[in-house]
Amino acid sequence: MENLAFDVVVVGGGNAALCAALAAAEKGASVALLERAPEEKRGGNSRFTGGGFRMVHHGVQDIKRIVPDLSDADIARSDFGEYTAENYLDDLGRITQYYIDPDLAETLVRNSTETVHWLMGRGVKFLPNYGRQAYNHEGRFKFFGGVVIYANGGGSGLVESEYKAAATHGVTVRYGVRAAAILRGKGGVEGLRVLVDGAEENIRARAVVLACGGFESNREWRSRYLGPGWDMAKVRGTRYNTGDGIRMALDIGAQSYGQWSGAHAVAWERYANDFGDVDGQHSAGYRHSYPFGLMVNANGERFVDEGADFRNYTYAKYGRAVLEQPGGYAWQIFDSQVLYLLRDEYKMRGATKVRADTLEELANKMQDVNPAGFLKTIRDYNAAVKRDVKFDPNVKDGKATVGLALDKMNWANTIEKPPFEAYSVGCGITFTFGGLKIDTCGHVLDIEDTPIPGLYAAGELVGGLFYFNYPGSAGLMAGAVFGRIAGREAGTFAQER
Ligand SMILES: Cc1cc2nc3c(=O)[nH]c(=O)nc-3n(C[C@H](O)[C@H](O)[C@H](O)COP(=O)(O)OP(=O)(O)OC[C@H]3O[C@@H](n4cnc5c(N)ncnc54)[C@H](O)[C@@H]3O)c2cc1C
Repeated sequence: MENLAFDVVVVGGGNAALCAALAAAEKGASVALLERAPEEKRGGNSRFTGGGFRMVHHGVQDIKRIVPDLSDADIARSDFGEYTAENYLDDLGRITQYYIDPDLAETLVRNSTETVHWLMGRGVKFLPNYGRQAYNHEGRFKFFGGVVIYANGGGSGLVESEYKAAATHGVTVRYGVRAAAILRGKGGVEGLRVLVDGAEENIRARAVVLACGGFESNREWRSRYLGPGWDMAKVRGTRYNTGDGIRMALDIGAQSYGQWSGAHAVAWERYANDFGDVDGQHSAGYRHSYPFGLMVNANGERFVDEGADFRNYTYAKYGRAVLEQPGGYAWQIFDSQVLYLLRDEYKMRGATKVRADTLEELANKMQDVNPAGFLKTIRDYNAAVKRDVKFDPNVKDGKATVGLALDKMNWANTIEKPPFEAYSVGCGITFTFGGLKIDTCGHVLDIEDTPIPGLYAAGELVGGLFYFNYPGSAGLMAGAVFGRIAGREAGTFAQER
């Protein structure tokens, strides 16, 4: 058993862990970051992301501070809107049915913009997310859904920059090291027991930051906590987030918190691999363009309002809706009027897709859908569409259906112009909502809401932020805000201990 010593040890190798490591190092602490994955697969789910960040901003001047190269031409063709702290808090409340921990919500929102600037100071570059967060509609881009910026290079660009910054900050990074248990003495946390190539090692530390993800990649825990059927979900991202950090903290008396039966889960390529693959076309699974079409189940029936809200506010709960359908699958249907709006992933190899010139032919090609049920759904839907309302993908256009048992409230174009395309989807899990309880300084709390001395947490394994649903691009922002706070606090604590 080797004995290495650091002021702060950070567990995890994604965005939250890297922000924590950087912030602790900036406090003058000696820092080690332990990544379970081998170096070539480092970066956790953060690396799989599109790199979107949800932050407060007040329009073009704020965006220009973050994207200094923004050209006059870009400014002229863009409406960035504004996203106030009140908008952000309202979204978090509404989306989580007001279960979100209000102190965590305030901390996330009030620190969002400043933390984006902090990341910029550490080498992360940001760009406006044209195409994903604003459609080109009649030559203009109007940003919808509260998100404007993403990290240059997406998730992999983000973590690359963060690892670079960690190196310049003198952070010791170790790969292939799996944290297994927290060492606790009378005065609090004293380090970690880790596994390296199956052998145990102790690493001493004055403070530990847990930032090693949720339990989405643990098939057994998924069925245990999320419920029956969740063992069959596909993992969109990393295979390494199996709940270790949560378990280790619970083992020493941490409090479980948040919605343990809840998860961020989306409609995802039905026959995707069990896990994401950072080296492959992992993004090929995205099926996020459903607001412009319909989704039907095996009976050919619709089961959600595809146009209830912008994609950012519905996609994270519709994976569960798909999972709950007979057989756990669905099909997304589009006609030629909206094919130009489909995200690039629909065109990538590996899509389970059929195409036809008539709806009858399409129905026959979707072999596991009841054709009669499907054709009736389309007939009823087309008859219910408000044809006189103009379609606009950048706003909630109110182009709705009227009189259906389940109306579509926006973007309800008829499905009548060939060619028709249909894509089969299953449930893809992104991350789990339940986890540990922290305070606004990132301390992990015990059952009496008392901090466990020397133990901090950030990122996906923090409970209390998301319930039932999630507003798009809040995950990286939360990981950065709470990672930075946890690292700063851990760094200070370790020096004073
Ligand atoms: C396909 C996809 C797209 C997404 N797009 C976006 C987006 O655009 N914007 C957004 O905000 N969010 C997005 N998300 C969600 C986002 O990925 C998460 O909210 C965020 O990355 C979580 O960061 P994290 O640091 O907590 O976890 P992760 O980035 O998953 O990092 C966890 C780390 O812990 C390591 N680890 C696990 N167990 C151990 C252990 N025992 N010991 C040591 N290390 C361990 C893992 O290897 C990993 O490096 C997306 C997710 C996916 C899968």
